[in-house]
Amino acid sequence: MAEENLQNKTDVIVIGAGPAGVSAAITVARGGKSVVLVERAPFAGAKNMYGGVIYTHAAKEIFPNFEEAPIERYIAKHSYVLLSEKDSTQISYQNPEHEKNAFVAIRAKWDKWCVEQAMKEGVYFAPNTLVRELILKDGKVCGIKTDFEDYYADIVIIADGVNSLLAKQIGLRKNIKPKNVALGVKEVIKLPQEVINKRFALENIQGCAMEIVGKPLENLFGMGIVYTNKDSIAVGFGVSLEDLKNHKIKPYELLDRLKQHPFVADLIQGGELIEYSAHLIPEGGYRAIPKLYADGVMVTGDAAGLVNNVHFEGTNLAMMSGKYAGETALNALEHNDFSSNMLCLYAKKLENSFVMKDMKTYKDVVHILGSRTGAFLNYYPYSINKFFDIFTCADGKPKKEKFQKFTKDFFTKRSLSELFKDAIAGIKIVFGILK
Ligand SMILES: Cc1cc2nc3c(=O)[nH]c(=O)nc-3n(C[C@H](O)[C@H](O)[C@H](O)COP(=O)(O)OP(=O)(O)OC[C@H]3O[C@@H](n4cnc5c(N)ncnc54)[C@H](O)[C@@H]3O)c2cc1C
Repeated sequence: MAEENLQNKTDVIVIGAGPAGVSAAITVARGGKSVVLVERAPFAGAKNMYGGVIYTHAAKEIFPNFEEAPIERYIAKHSYVLLSEKDSTQISYQNPEHEKNAFVAIRAKWDKWCVEQAMKEGVYFAPNTLVRELILKDGKVCGIKTDFEDYYADIVIIADGVNSLLAKQIGLRKNIKPKNVALGVKEVIKLPQEVINKRFALENIQGCAMEIVGKPLENLFGMGIVYTNKDSIAVGFGVSLEDLKNHKIKPYELLDRLKQHPFVADLIQGGELIEYSAHLIPEGGYRAIPKLYADGVMVTGDAAGLVNNVHFEGTNLAMMSGKYAGETALNALEHNDFSSNMLCLYAKKLENSFVMKDMKTYKDVVHILGSRTGAFLNYYPYSINKFFDIFTCADGKPKKEKFQKFTKDFFTKRSLSELFKDAIAGIKIVFGILK
């Protein structure tokens, strides 16, 4: 190992300028310590793909002036949609008091804005800098190797995202297993703001977050999404990589199926495709969280598998984990102790927060749902649509016969033992959550 070059030494190095990294870096800078935020892309956000929402509570905690950021729309409406072959059932929730609970931002703009704020507060930002590996001395992480130079720090915070090669290098993580990640695929479709507002029944910069299950994603563990930007719509899905592999379905074919469903087709009709992207999402839940720290190093955000898939939350967990890692780094610097004994404070902070509490709450949900995908994400949505089809259709035929046929089909298509297993799975989920 090259000898430590003191000119290249800082208190903390943070790798990756996503929500986790920028939150860690700004926290360290606010504590008066020197921090370098290293990003492989030419600017923060350039490599980030995203189809969803950012949660105000976390954004506000890191950036009290977040309302000055390039926000597309505030989420005023949450819709849950069940699709069958052609029909659909939609449940929408709106609460004017929650309108500022979450917002949509385009990551290329949002991440850039966040880094600009961090730089104003003293973070040194190094774009175009790919970290090749971590430098270790006597088993302790003490720096990074880049294509240009080696850099040293008392503490390194890893925030390099879902496929964290750096956490793997030091044995904190193993190779990603397809069952522990989802593939997120998304198109952005441009439409005038007035058209979007009319189609989604929104006003001004009110936004809609839509989650979709059913036919187009048949028997695959995952969900479709439709989110409104100011003058474009993001449409996509997140589906288990293992399922995509096993069912031999190409992601773009799946996206086409989703876009061709009449419900989605009506929303995006006449729009112009301006972007296509794909990205992995951690899906392993609580059981797949790696060890979060070692001597001289902490792992945050997606790199630590901190995503709550049930609620589609990742950015807020990333931001909060970055903040706790930053606070822990400040504590370690104050005590001049960078060992695991000191850095375990980071794990404790996570344990005491909603981050780990929520991860624990849902630790079984994803696995149980994943094992009964056909039932929960397909058969029951289909049955609900069928029920409403009968309920709403006046075609001169007696209702009783139709409902009798519906009931007979319901019990024929899914055996009693399967229904029983579904009920047990449902109970396990509910009791698991309430425990
Ligand atoms: C399709 C999709 C939809 C989503 N929807 C939502 C949603 O609605 N709500 C929500 O909260 N979350 C959502 N998420 C999840 C959310 O995007 C992530 O949880 C969040 O971005 C994690 O932040 P992070 O900082 O840990 O990692 P990232 O945002 O992935 O940032 C990692 C950064 O590290 C950089 N990097 C990587 N390796 C290196 C290296 N070796 N050297 C230097 N830099 C490196 C990358 O370029 C990147 O900028 C979604 C994800 C996807 C894919």
